[in-house]
Amino acid sequence: MHDAASSEMATLLERQRHAFLRYGAPNSAERSAKLSRLRTAVLVHRKDIRTAISADFGHRSQHETDIMEVMGVIQSIDYLRRNLKRFMTSERRHVALPFRAGRAYVEYQPKGVIGVMAPWNYPFSLTIIPLATALAAGNRAMLKPSELTPRTSEVIQDMLADIFSTDEVALVLGGPEVGAEFSGLPFDHLFFTGSTRVGRKVMKAASNNLVPVTLELGGKSPVIVAHGSVDERSVARIVFGKLSNAGQTCVAPDYALIHEDDLDRFVSLYDAMVTQTYPGGPTSRDYSSIVSARHYDRLTGLVDAARQDGARVIEVGYKPETASGRCRTIAPTLVVGAGDDSAIMQEEIFGPILAVRTYRSIDEAVDYVNGRPRPLALYVFGPDDADRAKLLASTTSGNVGINNTLLHVAQDDLPFGGIGPSGMGAYHGIEGFRSMSHGKGIFVQGRWNLPDLLRAPFGRFADATLAAILRPPRSGQQSQAAFGVSGCGTGFDPKGWRAPQE
Ligand code: NAD
Repeated sequence: MHDAASSEMATLLERQRHAFLRYGAPNSAERSAKLSRLRTAVLVHRKDIRTAISADFGHRSQHETDIMEVMGVIQSIDYLRRNLKRFMTSERRHVALPFRAGRAYVEYQPKGVIGVMAPWNYPFSLTIIPLATALAAGNRAMLKPSELTPRTSEVIQDMLADIFSTDEVALVLGGPEVGAEFSGLPFDHLFFTGSTRVGRKVMKAASNNLVPVTLELGGKSPVIVAHGSVDERSVARIVFGKLSNAGQTCVAPDYALIHEDDLDRFVSLYDAMVTQTYPGGPTSRDYSSIVSARHYDRLTGLVDAARQDGARVIEVGYKPETASGRCRTIAPTLVVGAGDDSAIMQEEIFGPILAVRTYRSIDEAVDYVNGRPRPLALYVFGPDDADRAKLLASTTSGNVGINNTLLHVAQDDLPFGGIGPSGMGAYHGIEGFRSMSHGKGIFVQGRWNLPDLLRAPFGRFADATLAAILRPPRSGQQSQAAFGVSGCGTGFDPKGWRAPQE
């Protein structure tokens, strides 16, 4: 990467940091105004966004872009604006008995400049929702979208240039080399969405400057259908999650665990539901292309290798041989019974192919999930019974969807993120605001203060006080830490409360 481009990025960061230090944290009205400007600009550019994304992908449904990206962004901005004052309010915390005349509270202040790195699969919303969160928390931001969606990046650049100066929000364009340089900048927080492979590199680069990171990564998200629960409704919802954006969704079901008695019914209903959803097969107006030739080759390679290894490969829906091909489309496909070591059971699929395995007991399904890296999402279809309770209690995933797929992401008040290889930290909800804020604990000394009397030279007062506080428990009584009185931080009504002056 050229030194000039690298120093340009460093200069942008320096300018944003300088502006942050000079103007300080914006108040709630200023933050709200920025979010409003962003909201208006998104709606003004709605058509350009849809056109650019479709061109970047080869083809993507206009409705899908509106629903999965534009609506998601608007809903997030509205949620942040509605909750801004609550999120920004100082939070009173518990004060232990010896310090009671004082007050303890947490104030959430902006971290400063947030770096945002985005992937190509939802190139608009995965750039703009982190930006909206950063602005709500009072920060400035530098954005690095994916090089695979250049037309979308151009629209984002034009849109943001109309409403923000570059010392508030700036966009940096480029591929992996620029990404590597970007992730090494001394941001106040780095928010990365992308693959687990690159996430590792990003975290390593950030660690040089001890930059805190949020990593929104990927992985293999399972869908588990309870014995006897394969029906039209459950399968239609799995088809929705798997084939929206042609499976290029971080939380798309990657593989399905189906009870062995239900396998044939699942395959035939999946075929029927795909036909109903995409009547024109892969050339349907609502069916997306694969973003690049490299990804297309990777996906067809996964299927070919599984077929060679003896898995059953079933192309479902309207038959592809009679469909006139649109660029880089892959027919919805089921791969049944691929071996554990096959690439399709090891790699995140990230395309319109669903791997299917059978299980005999819920314990076997739990063991299968727990024998693999912790997923970003886990989906459970079936009644509210002991099997569901077991699946929820015995597995750990970023999030869970019950009797549906993808929709947990649209719940603005829920934290969204992975765990371990599927991610670190979360956004959406108050968690997003807090991840981009510094929660500063503040203690204000009251007029009267017991510790003032507990200083050297120690004497009889100290002895008596310590004897009272550190009394040994009476026999039969549970020991209780005198300083650890419970009930902190809850039920505090911030209205009218002021941090006391000394
Ligand atoms: P990616 O990791 O290849 O790229 C993400 C970003 O990192 C891009 O901006 C890219 O330019 C940059 N980058 C690439 N190589 C880099 C390097 N060596 N150093 C620094 N930066 C580099 O991911 P992708 O292919 O764009 O997106 C698909 C992946 O993202 C999938 O794994 C998917 O599951 C995941 N994803 C996760 C979420 C989530 O919210 N958890 C959402 C969408 C996608």
